[in-house]
Amino acid sequence: MSRRLSGKVVIATHNAGKLKEMRELLAPHGVEAISAGELDLPEPDETGVTFAENAFIKAYAAAMKSGLPAFADDSGLCVEALGGDPGLYSARWAGPEKDFNAAMAKVEAGLQEKGAITPSQRRAWFISALSVVWPDEHEVAVEGRVDGVLIWPPRGKAGFGYDPMFLPDGFDRTFGEMTAEEKHGLPPHGLGLSHRARAFIALEKLCLKV
Ligand code: IMP
Repeated sequence: MSRRLSGKVVIATHNAGKLKEMRELLAPHGVEAISAGELDLPEPDETGVTFAENAFIKAYAAAMKSGLPAFADDSGLCVEALGGDPGLYSARWAGPEKDFNAAMAKVEAGLQEKGAITPSQRRAWFISALSVVWPDEHEVAVEGRVDGVLIWPPRGKAGFGYDPMFLPDGFDRTFGEMTAEEKHGLPPHGLGLSHRARAFIALEKLCLKV
C-alpha cells in the first residue's frame, strides 16, 4: 500500500556516495534527508537472504531508533552463469580494500571457468531494492532491475563497482563509459535505465508524487 513521504526522512546508510545520490533524488520532492550517520544510529547486520530483506532490515532499524520514516537500499550484481553470484555479496567480493578491479577479475575468472564466451552466456543484471519504513512499521518496498551482458576487458572509468564490465541491453557503451545522467536515464529525458533509477521511479509513484 502506498503512503506519502514528506518532512524529515532518515537515509539509512553510512555510505557517503549513496547518501549523496539519495539526497539528490529526494531533494526535488521537498523531503529533508538526514543520514543515519548524523543521528549516530548503529548499522544493523545485513542478515537477509534477499536484497529486499536487507533493505527492510536497514530501514526498519533506523525508523525504530529515530522515530522518523527511514529510507534504505540494497543492491548488487547477479551473474546468470554464476548462479546469481556475487549477488548479495557484491560489495564483499571487492574485499576490505574495496578493490573492484579485483572483484571484476573474479567475475571474469568465474565466467571463463564456466566456458561463458558468447554474449548470451554472459548475461547479468543489477538489482536495487528500496524500502521505506515508518515508525508505525508500515513499509513501502520496490525493486528495480537492469539486464545486460558482461564484457572483458572492462571499459570506462565513470561510475563505480562493476560498471565498467556491464553493457546494458540496447546500448554499445558500458555503465563505466556513461555519464551519471545517461546511466540513470531519469525523466524528463529518459524513462529510467539503471536499476537504482528504475526503483526510484517506482517509489516516486507510490510515495513522492502529489
Ligand atoms: P550494497 O552497498 O550492499 O548495496 O552493495 C552494493 C554493491 O553492489 C556495490 O558495492 C557494488 O559492488 C555493486 N553495485 C550496486 N549498484 C551498482 C552500480 O550501479 N554499478 C556498479 N556496481 C554496483
